[in-house]
Amino acid sequence: MPLNNQSTIRDPAARRNASPRDEAEDARRVQLIEVTIDSLAEVGFVGTTLAEIAGRAGVSPGLVAHYFGDKDGLLEATFRTLARVVAVRMRERFALARTPRARVQAVIDANLGPENFDRRTGNAWLAFWGQVLHFEGLKRVQTAYQRRMLSNLRSDLRRVIPGEDARSLAAMIAAMIDGVWLRAALSEWEEADSESARALLTAFVDGRLHELARSSAADGAQAASVVPHRAPDAEQSIRVINPATGAQLAVLAVDGPAQVNAAVERARVAQKDWRAMTGAERGRVLQRAARLLRERNDALAELETRNTGKPIQETRAVDVISGAECLEYFAGLAAGLAGEHIDLGSKAFGYTRREPLGVVAGIGAWNYPLQIACWKSAPALACGNAMIFKPAELTPLTAIKLAEIYREAGLPEGVFQIVQGFADTGRLLTRHPDIRKISLTGEVGTGKAVMADAAAFLKQVTLELGGKSPLIVFDDAQLDNAVSGALLGNFYSAGEVCSNGTRVFVHRRVRAEFVERLRARTAAVRVGDPLDPATQVGALISAEHLEKVLSLIARGRAQGARLIIGGERVTGGALARGCFVAPTVFDACHDDMDIVRQEIFGPVMSVLEFEREEEVIARANASEFGLAAGVFTNDLTRAHRVIAQLEAGTCWINHYNVTPVELPFGGVKMSGLGRENGRAALEHYTQLKSVYVAMADIDSPY
Ligand code: NDP
Repeated sequence: MPLNNQSTIRDPAARRNASPRDEAEDARRVQLIEVTIDSLAEVGFVGTTLAEIAGRAGVSPGLVAHYFGDKDGLLEATFRTLARVVAVRMRERFALARTPRARVQAVIDANLGPENFDRRTGNAWLAFWGQVLHFEGLKRVQTAYQRRMLSNLRSDLRRVIPGEDARSLAAMIAAMIDGVWLRAALSEWEEADSESARALLTAFVDGRLHELARSSAADGAQAASVVPHRAPDAEQSIRVINPATGAQLAVLAVDGPAQVNAAVERARVAQKDWRAMTGAERGRVLQRAARLLRERNDALAELETRNTGKPIQETRAVDVISGAECLEYFAGLAAGLAGEHIDLGSKAFGYTRREPLGVVAGIGAWNYPLQIACWKSAPALACGNAMIFKPAELTPLTAIKLAEIYREAGLPEGVFQIVQGFADTGRLLTRHPDIRKISLTGEVGTGKAVMADAAAFLKQVTLELGGKSPLIVFDDAQLDNAVSGALLGNFYSAGEVCSNGTRVFVHRRVRAEFVERLRARTAAVRVGDPLDPATQVGALISAEHLEKVLSLIARGRAQGARLIIGGERVTGGALARGCFVAPTVFDACHDDMDIVRQEIFGPVMSVLEFEREEEVIARANASEFGLAAGVFTNDLTRAHRVIAQLEAGTCWINHYNVTPVELPFGGVKMSGLGRENGRAALEHYTQLKSVYVAMADIDSPY
């Protein structure tokens, strides 16, 4: 249908206020624009000149110039008109649409409706598209038109699907509308008709919405099994997101002073009975909880995967099981907690009692949510403390499950409690006078803040903080093992592991060979849907973190590191909605590059070359961090000699990132204080009482 209806292409508001003279002027402009559209459709952009338009309209070229200035002005006005017609039709349809889905349909119908989806209008659009890149005026119109369409689509879609999905579906719809027009125009409108074009878009949108609803229902069903402790209120809540899909998993209430104080009070009361039980009794409760964790491994792993984006092949094999192992280990030690007898001669002896601290707090990071909750709670509870645990606000779900499991295992009410919230809730714990210890896993800055708060009440702290650990490969190393260690120490959990060996120092003689093997094996690493058992690298934790990782990769490139593989976001298919980054290896790195100095917490490895043993030890130690280190060599003497000189809390020889619960884990320098796991952890959850026992009369000087 031709664009010859003035009421369609003039704004109704402008029409209401128009004088008869304005009306006549407008009618002339509309006629000239109509003629321009005809001309564009028939003779194209080049053939459409002022003279051509004047001839077609039966007026002088001067009159055309009077209205539009020059050809550019005429074309811009025509393009604006085409875009406005779609906008007006969209508004008319919006007025009748009652649901967000109907409004999305209104956008589709307005763009592909029979009144303008035809050869004439289509060819005119095509002529403009060809020019948009070279003509500022047309580009402005095109940008405004696209923006309006996208923002309408996004805001309606956001009412039915999560924000990230809404954004990408809106972009897909807009691209498909353009594509349908383009195909129709290029096929000379042979097979194009409005009805099938709209049916295609409608089927696509319905299919996509259905798919998204299914995946979010699966997410929701999993998360729905988590019973939050309190209904979220409107004021402050935590939206829990699946970082692989952008789907919302849950909304939780944020705990404030009232809830934290009440939790501490409950814990104080409950701890008295808990500490009065024998170690063996406490151990039995932990054993039962460990059994429940193992029985529920798959469901817990799936929930953890949905919340963290980590591959299910990892969470099923490691996260829950290492938590269970930790409970079993400290269950065993609970009965063996003991002080010592101290011989003071025949008239006295002494002994020490290893006593719990009282109410302690655990504050977790988001990379191993359930494991961190277990690593903190198991020794705390084994020693007779009560623990209040705050998970990271990004990953609060599996800790709730752990609390349920403890309850089912017979842990008295109040001995292990979860509070939810952001840093403010964490601060309520660190500043609470009745909490005797804080165990934090988090960033260095958070560690300092926690320690400063703890100082006010001289609370004890265990701080498990960040790292930028060295992994050193000598020229006699078994090279495939060293490559395996480097892969494990950089790409496991998409690199979101505090102890990762991200500074890979390789001896000059084997560097080329090492890098080649590394490249080949990295190329085979599978990035994908975290719920697919074949996936080896899943999503990063959040869009914000994704940006941080990508910007550090960009800095690596800019500062001259040689990108061997990876370096980009992965967006193929459904991954477009998530935060995926390809495993990335930089070679030819230098010690002063940002990627070599800063913790990236993503799948980004830096390879550095070294020549001499003393040189590599000095360079490995030249970091504020001191969490972990690894050495690959077949020379046993050298391995121990080097390890002894490395400033790191946890070291591996010919392996990387294995953390058996029997071995204490923790950092030195800015990487932390105190130890988790091993017998050493018991010291951090107990205090010694020294007792002097007289066996004879007092020899009084008074
Ligand atoms: P953050 O330090 O940002 O957060 C850790 C926890 O502390 C969160 O629960 C956070 O709450 C809370 N928090 C933040 N500020 C305060 C405050 N002032 N007082 C009390 N609590 C506070 O770390 P991430 O969660 O980002 O975790 C990543 C970091 O953790 C990395 O640096 C990584 O190296 C480190 N890490 C260390 C490990 C180790 O064992 N050494 C192991 C795993 C990770 P909220 O979530 O609301 O911000």
